Amino acid sequence: MPTQDGPQAAQAAQPAPLPGVKQIIAVGAGKGGVGKSTVSVNLAVGLARAGAKVGLLDGDIYGPSLPTMLGLTGQPAQAQGNVIQPFEVHGIRAMTLGALVEEEKPLIWRGPMAHGAFKQIATQTGWGELDYLIIDLPPGTGDVPLTMSQLLQMTGAVVVCTPQKVAQDDARRAVRMFQTLGVEVLGVVENMSYFIGDDGKEYDIFGKGGAETMAGQMDIPFLGTLPINTVLRHNCDTGDPTANFTGGDKLAEELDALTQAFVRRVEDFLASGGAQQPTISVT
Ligand code: ADP
Repeated sequence: MPTQDGPQAAQAAQPAPLPGVKQIIAVGAGKGGVGKSTVSVNLAVGLARAGAKVGLLDGDIYGPSLPTMLGLTGQPAQAQGNVIQPFEVHGIRAMTLGALVEEEKPLIWRGPMAHGAFKQIATQTGWGELDYLIIDLPPGTGDVPLTMSQLLQMTGAVVVCTPQKVAQDDARRAVRMFQTLGVEVLGVVENMSYFIGDDGKEYDIFGKGGAETMAGQMDIPFLGTLPINTVLRHNCDTGDPTANFTGGDKLAEELDALTQAFVRRVEDFLASGGAQQPTISVT
């Protein structure tokens, strides 16, 4: 079980790199259900398919989605001493609390325990050498992003948002949270941007462009859109993200385009001298 060293412990320490891990990037959202885990998983698999060494950490310690989305159900986690071995699936290394506890067990964490749980899966997983560690955060602005920013030397964060006004409002809060925590917001992804029907027509269900407008207003780079796609939803439900990239259709092109936009943005940010950790003070 996670240890109970509290946020105070992290506050005393400076954020540190994870040995062997080059870039640590969080994926956050203001709200649940906007596709944060979907974007995290597909970004991780897309990066791996492009040749990078990628880890994916399920930071959603309250409602871990990765066992389902990566098809991990029934696979026990292996540990050697204090080190938990990540799952090697779809070309990536993944760790999720969902694989360490019973299915359907409610995950109820007080602040200090949430800190300990996140710290354990982040720092005690045997990630090995990674180009990117993607962290799928819980929705909102709670304990985990705070712990993460105090514990880990982050490259930055990506915010996922659907186009509606209510989603934008919460995404703005997520952006401001990262900025307060000293984590660079590398860009915004607009998920569920529109829907292409069987008739080939584009249906603007949630107000296409809303998240892009929000990103512009907040002066944050826009990384791209993903439409509502039933194949994407099906492959998430059946734990087969690789199939999103091998179907030879528009979905694979859209995911590859998003992955490339992400890589370009990270490279530009690093080239401009980014990822310096400011000294932060959070109350
Ligand atoms: P979050 O992590 O923000 O809570 P999820 O990634 O778990 O959201 O997505 C919520 C649900 O919506 C999942 O069933 C997922 O498969 C589905 N979903 C997400 N993005 C899309 C999309 N672009 N098209 C179709 N279904 C999607």
